[in-house]
Amino acid sequence: MNCNKCGSDKIIPDLRITDHAHGNVEKNLSIYIQKTDHIFFNKLEQGELIAQICCGCGGVELTINNTDGLWEAYKKSKE
Ligand SMILES: [Zn+2]
Repeated sequence: MNCNKCGSDKIIPDLRITDHAHGNVEKNLSIYIQKTDHIFFNKLEQGELIAQICCGCGGVELTINNTDGLWEAYKKSKE
């Protein structure tokens, strides 16, 4: 696996991006899409950001997990 910017193979994959919230609780950065299944029941579909970093150039590539769940929630929200 090589960096697509500088070609370096100094790649660290699958890093979670954490924020140290109040009380030093670690919180992974996430994206939420609200899906409403019921008037009184709002659910959030969550996807966590996953970073791959290059130690050659400092480039960061972000991907997200739970893409199926997020897409379903998005489609529902458009109905
Ligand atoms: Zn690089």
